[in-house]
Amino acid sequence: MNSRYDRNIRFFGEEGQQRLRNAKVTIVGVGGVGSHMTQQLALLGLGSIALIDAEELDETNRNRYVTARISDKIPGTLKVDIGERLINEIDPSIEVIKVRDSVVSDGAFRAILRSDYVFGSVDSEGARLVLTELCSAYRLSYFDVASDIEPGDRLRYGGRVCAALRGEGCLVCLGQLDMDEARRKLAGPEARKLRGVIYGVEKQQLGRAGPSVVSINGVVASLAVTEFMVGATGIREPNRLTIYRGNMGRVLVSDDAPKPDCFYCKSVWGQGERADTQRYIREGVGAFLR
Ligand SMILES: [Zn+2]
Repeated sequence: MNSRYDRNIRFFGEEGQQRLRNAKVTIVGVGGVGSHMTQQLALLGLGSIALIDAEELDETNRNRYVTARISDKIPGTLKVDIGERLINEIDPSIEVIKVRDSVVSDGAFRAILRSDYVFGSVDSEGARLVLTELCSAYRLSYFDVASDIEPGDRLRYGGRVCAALRGEGCLVCLGQLDMDEARRKLAGPEARKLRGVIYGVEKQQLGRAGPSVVSINGVVASLAVTEFMVGATGIREPNRLTIYRGNMGRVLVSDDAPKPDCFYCKSVWGQGERADTQRYIREGVGAFLR
C-alpha cells in the first residue's frame, strides 16, 4: 500500500487499512450529516461507497453541505451527484454507486444488500424503521446517525449514533425510535389518505424545517465514522449508543442494555427474504419517505 495511508496504518495497521479498503458501505441520506460521512469515509480509504438520496440541493443546504460548491446550480443539482464528485476528488479509484430514489425502492434495497455496513442519516422515523428491519434481516451492521437542535428556553443541541450489530441492540430496543410516528410514516396510500381527511395536512408536509448547523452535524458524523472505524479495523467493539450533548460539552456512552426480546434483533435477524422487507416497496410507501 502506498504512503497515502501511512498515518492511518500507524494507528490500526496494514490489515486494518486493508479491511477498510475491502468494506462496502452505503450512506442513506447525503445531507447535512451524510455529506460529512461521505467525505470522511472516502478519506479513510474505503473501497466502495453507495449513496442513496432522492433530493436535489437547495439554497438552504449551503450553510452545511461539505459536498456543495457555489457553482452548483439550484435547481438542477442532485445530492448524490455532488457526493460522487467529492469522492472522486479525494480518490477516483473508489467505487461509487448512486441511487437517486427513496430508501424504499428497488435500487436502494439492491445497493444496501450488497453492503457490509449501512449509515443512515435520514429525517424520517419510518425510514429508520425500514433500515433497521432490512439490515437486521440480512445481518448488516447499521449505524443510525442523527443531530438534534432544540432552540429557545430549553436550549439543547447535539445528537446520537446508534450502532445495531449482530442482533444485539437496535434503535427500537434502545428506545431511540418513535414507533407510533414510524408506523404513521409507513402507512400505505389508502390509510394515509384517510388520515389526511381526518387530521389534515401532516406537520412535516408544511415544510417547517428545524435548525441544522455544520459543526454539530460534523461532530455526530465524526462519532459515527469513528465507531465504524474502530469496529471494522478491530481496535474495539463499537458502542451501541453514543450520545453527544453539545450544550453540556459532553459525549456520553449509554450502558442501557437492549431489551432481550426485541422483535427486530431476535425474530427478524438473519431471516433474509423470509422477513419480506419487499412488502414496503409493494405497498408503495417509498413515495412518502426520503
Ligand atoms: Zn433491537
